[in-house]
Amino acid sequence: MAKIVIVGAGFAGHTAALYLGDALGKDHDITVVNRQEYFAYIPSWVWVGIGHMKPEKTIFPLEPVYSKFNINFIHGKVTEIHADDQFVMAEEDGTNNEKKLEYDYLVIATGPKLNFDGTKGLGPKGHTYSICTLDHAVASRDKYLETVAKMKKGEKQKIVIGTGHPGATCQGAALEYITNIHKDLIKQGVRDKAEMIYFSNERALGDFGVRGIHVKHKNEIVTSEEFIGAVFKENNFDVQVQRGAKEVNEKQIHWEDFDGNYGETDYDFAMLVPQFLGQPFKYVGKNGEDITSKIANPAGFILVDGIYGLPWDTLADNPDAWPAVYQNRNYKNIFAGGIAFAPPGPISKPHTTPNGTAITAAPPRTGMVSGIIGRIIAKNIIDLVKRGQMTHHERMSDMAAACIASMGDSLWDGSAATIMMYPVVPDSRKFPNDYGRDMFVTHMEMGLAGAWMKRMIHTTFMHKLRARVGWKVIPE
Ligand SMILES: Cc1cc2nc3c(=O)[nH]c(=O)nc-3n(C[C@H](O)[C@H](O)[C@H](O)COP(=O)(O)OP(=O)(O)OC[C@H]3O[C@@H](n4cnc5c(N)ncnc54)[C@H](O)[C@@H]3O)c2cc1C
Repeated sequence: MAKIVIVGAGFAGHTAALYLGDALGKDHDITVVNRQEYFAYIPSWVWVGIGHMKPEKTIFPLEPVYSKFNINFIHGKVTEIHADDQFVMAEEDGTNNEKKLEYDYLVIATGPKLNFDGTKGLGPKGHTYSICTLDHAVASRDKYLETVAKMKKGEKQKIVIGTGHPGATCQGAALEYITNIHKDLIKQGVRDKAEMIYFSNERALGDFGVRGIHVKHKNEIVTSEEFIGAVFKENNFDVQVQRGAKEVNEKQIHWEDFDGNYGETDYDFAMLVPQFLGQPFKYVGKNGEDITSKIANPAGFILVDGIYGLPWDTLADNPDAWPAVYQNRNYKNIFAGGIAFAPPGPISKPHTTPNGTAITAAPPRTGMVSGIIGRIIAKNIIDLVKRGQMTHHERMSDMAAACIASMGDSLWDGSAATIMMYPVVPDSRKFPNDYGRDMFVTHMEMGLAGAWMKRMIHTTFMHKLRARVGWKVIPE
């Protein structure tokens, strides 16, 4: 009987758990450990953050889902990974109980550690807001509604939405939040009272850390910078890109830009996404020694089967440098998916300012990408348990991704930018054009249909991830 431990039940870990439970749950021992007792559908927190969706609509308890598949669930957190002796130590939530969980296969899918400390004054302990956890999204909502109340009394307010660190990722969430705020302010009749600023470390608006998106429209190339730029212009957003937030105080974001200039952006309400790091674990060898460097990079992300350390130009020309099976090379029974795995480097060209500050949008591992990787890992573990050999692989340079950025949640007058790209990491060998992407599949569109699609995706994903009838036919 194989013992499988999955740490983290987000898009990557929970998807892996469903496939593993479905194939092996009856005859093998599967355990999931997750910090929360619920699964969180994070994309809908942009709506929670403006008070348009109740927080409880974005979560469901994990235990009833896992009991369908004979999966053990521990609400708690893993603190130590003993890779040579094949066990992890987990602390059960609300108790002092430490559990030793032995494994034959370990899946690390712990998402990001939100590094608010990387920028002085950032985040819940500082002065800005975040929508990266459910509690943060609720706090952001309350502050936003307070800001709206001030505007209703006639006060002008500066709203800054974007990234709070020179190396941040997840610009899509910030973009979606600012457009939803805009739409809500119009509905509340106070849009004219708000100055709205999109603040980001991206090389260009619409870069998203994936080198931007280019589509063919009536034989012309349209860039995501032009596409998003047109929307932002229409919405009257001030765009401040190529800026890395260095410090935040009660009223200002202090930044450095690509040219090495320093400056400040004033705000009344700011939601800034922090830098993402890997979750910290104690990695312990057979003699109690520290074996961190065999498993994780200095940022805490798990090293897998990518080619690491390549200069960016070489990496940009080598789509095969991206991992295919998400397996650690030193410990072949450790896999990592979603935000937890270490990408071989940035997708967008990195930039260092004349003062030596690296301002680079880190590569996103979105929900869809994380779900796909979770499935690949699960299928390979099933292969290993049943046949001793892995047969599944999918690099981010082979993977398509769709991103639907809603601009208002109404199904009558809402809208959304629907962006489809293939592949996520450009591959100029397969697609020898200037962009390394399939120009037939890669697509950007704006309209009401996207708003319907976004709402539909929320409903179908909550259905799939609860493992309800037909869950397997709904793609990640
Ligand atoms: C506001 C917002 C909107 C977004 N919108 C979209 C979107 O529209 N489309 C899209 O594709 N992506 C979107 N994303 C990105 C998407 O949410 C992430 O890419 C995705 O959640 C990553 O999945 P994951 O499994 O790697 O991590 P997560 O979903 O973060 O899950 C990790 C899990 O591991 C748990 N964990 C952490 N440490 C431990 C530990 N030590 N022990 C046990 N458990 C642990 C965490 O509590 C968590 O439950 C959005 C993100 C944000 C913040």
